[in-house]
Amino acid sequence: MKKSITCLLLLSTFLFLGFESCAQKEQKQEPPKAKNVIYMIGDGMALPQVFATMLATGEDLAFCQFPYTGIVDTRSKSNTITDSAAGGTALACDQKTKNGMVGMDSDTVAMPTVLDVLAEHGKSTGIVVTCYAGHATPADFFAKVPKRSMYEDIAIQMAESDKLNVMISGGRKHFDQRKDSINLIERMKNELGWKVYDTLADIDTSCMKYAVLAHRSHMPKYPERGEFLPEGVKTALKTLEQDEDGFFLMVEGSQIDFACHAADSAWMVNETVDFSNAVQIALDYAKADGNTLVVVTADHETGGLTMIDKQGAYTNISFNYSTGSHTCLPVMVYAYGPGAEQFTGWMQNNELKAKILKACGIEETTVDTTSIKATDNIVPVIGNFDSKPD
Ligand SMILES: [Zn+2]
Repeated sequence: MKKSITCLLLLSTFLFLGFESCAQKEQKQEPPKAKNVIYMIGDGMALPQVFATMLATGEDLAFCQFPYTGIVDTRSKSNTITDSAAGGTALACDQKTKNGMVGMDSDTVAMPTVLDVLAEHGKSTGIVVTCYAGHATPADFFAKVPKRSMYEDIAIQMAESDKLNVMISGGRKHFDQRKDSINLIERMKNELGWKVYDTLADIDTSCMKYAVLAHRSHMPKYPERGEFLPEGVKTALKTLEQDEDGFFLMVEGSQIDFACHAADSAWMVNETVDFSNAVQIALDYAKADGNTLVVVTADHETGGLTMIDKQGAYTNISFNYSTGSHTCLPVMVYAYGPGAEQFTGWMQNNELKAKILKACGIEETTVDTTSIKATDNIVPVIGNFDSKPD
């Protein structure tokens, strides 16, 4: 009996020790957290824009190198076809909202964006875009207004933001040619702690709060504007990486959308190449750094772009735009780095924020997962062309 008790004791000690070492092992195997996040949005860039650009250039793009890819449903709360304001708000926040709204839910309640939350967790933040600083997508990350056209209010919110460190963009007119005659650039410099530049040259990248407002309107088209977007990303990274707590950088290829609204294929290809070059810089940075999550997606598709042979002969490809506006075609998401494995399968656009935060070790449970019900008119038209069976 005594012997068997000793045996039991020994066995239980062994089991306990075994259990301990398993627990320790489990703890050790916990996936590494992302210290830095680079969130990149190709405005209007779904799979057709990416693949059309690959066909036109005969080359692979940076998107081909991502180990994790998924599909994002872009529908907004009010419309099956989203605009950029609601599309970007859903990518930045936990809730879908109505078309036209920036950083607010459908009841006009301001929502914390992924930039807001990561800034509150001590990370430095930046935005690099080729449109106005206050255009829908960048504004979706720092501003809260019920209408995207409130550019001058958005500029004030940017100037007064205590969460934004770096802004590289166009849109200077909303700061110094305002209806209220306020010179916001002077206020930013004198009262609000910003350095303000009008070009990427000669920036003091050791300064942790600056705006480069490089054009009065949107930046010129690529390649006329030069390497503004990739160089802007390099500049912002140089500044933001000084923060020991990490950083959040949002980058937008803003004019892929403009080109597709105009059904201008040469422009669309140029803009997608430029955005891909910026993505390559982010990806190379993340590969070298090891603690950086890169997430690339889009707010919606623009143009209803397809690559067709108009004769149906499968030989002569032409790019065909079925609309001068947006479509509800889902978009891709590409991810690399710690937490990237979450970005697979089918997801809603308002699920990305929580995934990014989770990658950084921040758990939030406020994602609205209510299923989307179309409130607008959907009339499926089937067989509206003479199809040849083949
Ligand atoms: Zn858009």
